[in-house]
Amino acid sequence: MINYEEIKKTDPEIYQAIMGELKRQSENLELIASENYVDYPVLEATGCIMTNKYAEGYPYRKSKETGELTYRLSGRYYGGCDFVNDAERLAIERAKELFGAEHANVQAHSGSQANMAVYFAVLEPGDKMMGMSLSHGGHLTHGHTVSFSGIFYEVVQYGVSTKTEQLDYDEIMEFAIQEKPKLIMCGASAYPRIIDFKKFKEIADKVGAYLVADIAHIAGLIVAGLHPSPVPYADFVTTTTHKTLRGPRAGLILCKKKYQEILDKTVMPGIQGGPLMHVIAAKAIALKLAQTEEFKEYQKQIVKNASALANALIDRGFNLVSGGTDNHLMLINLGKKGEGPSGKKMEKALDKAGITANKNTVPFDTRSPFVASGIRLGTPALTTRGMKEKEMEQIAEFIKQVYDDIENDEKLAEIRNYVRELCAKFPIYEELK
Ligand SMILES: *Cc1c(COP(=O)(O)O)cnc(C)c1O
Repeated sequence: MINYEEIKKTDPEIYQAIMGELKRQSENLELIASENYVDYPVLEATGCIMTNKYAEGYPYRKSKETGELTYRLSGRYYGGCDFVNDAERLAIERAKELFGAEHANVQAHSGSQANMAVYFAVLEPGDKMMGMSLSHGGHLTHGHTVSFSGIFYEVVQYGVSTKTEQLDYDEIMEFAIQEKPKLIMCGASAYPRIIDFKKFKEIADKVGAYLVADIAHIAGLIVAGLHPSPVPYADFVTTTTHKTLRGPRAGLILCKKKYQEILDKTVMPGIQGGPLMHVIAAKAIALKLAQTEEFKEYQKQIVKNASALANALIDRGFNLVSGGTDNHLMLINLGKKGEGPSGKKMEKALDKAGITANKNTVPFDTRSPFVASGIRLGTPALTTRGMKEKEMEQIAEFIKQVYDDIENDEKLAEIRNYVRELCAKFPIYEELK
């Protein structure tokens, strides 16, 4: 069992910070759509002695006789890798089985590095790529100017349609035909609807582009069959392992067999050195847990909770982007400048009431991303705590009260007390306190 006694003795300042964070995670309503609470085994693995091991390379190598990759031959640059090889082999095999993929690279340190590896594997600097714009729900690494993706490549970006605030595949097809990108990235960080990966495949085929699907947010839903999988269609699928998948903070890349060699080479030595073997062990555990019936039930409840929260917010007069949600998240559109508070202001007020969420741009936002006109809410973390539809209704009411009394710190502190009471009924990490 984990305890922090040694940290307490050695570094009281860091101990204080960890305990403060533990208290914050316990006493607040965590509505950040990309966050979750990992299980103890995942927590144990991320703190385990595999952090000591250098293991550049892979646990497999190409056999000279058959040309096939085999775990019998270790492709590491260091000795002593037998046990970390076991951990990485398990992570790879579980990832392949869970997603039905031909190959899995489990070494990416994060979702961003997973995307970097894929771009570096198939694009040359200056090549044209197409991704969803940040303000419409895409991720920074899908071509934003401040990210490597926008710096190294010529980027064209699609967004949602003005009318429906959803992806319009005919529009995207037309745009792709006009722009002829070499790579199309689909997937999002703030899109509340189902993404039609099959349609994206048709678009990519039409223009001869590589198709990459980034399922960082929805990986858990895909595992549970609640969202269609891009694995049959995309050349590469990237994901984080710490969002709905509820694993350690890290990345994962799936691809067709024909890209295995170029992908592996691009990850290491292309953009990384030694893999984080303790994190890979934790990924293996999370992937094992994701195979269980319990995990599927958990994902179902995430979606039910999101739907309940969205309906309760709509009932209270909030305007949701695209009118609702099909997945684990939703975006409240607070209105243009002069019409309603900014996302920044709302985020701060929610924080004072013990509700953690993030400001987010909404489609066609007139404010900058640092101010933004929206709030993004997600249910994965609350669902892990055991909350259900009834609690979602109560949380929507808290959010409405915060909105109505956004300037009133006393009222916000009062709401905070109710939030704490609710959180106390759904304890987390009790053994760590
Ligand atoms: C979260 C996210 C990422 C990046 O993950 P990091 O681990 O923070 O680098 C990439 N793509 C999408 C769509 C995401 O939502």
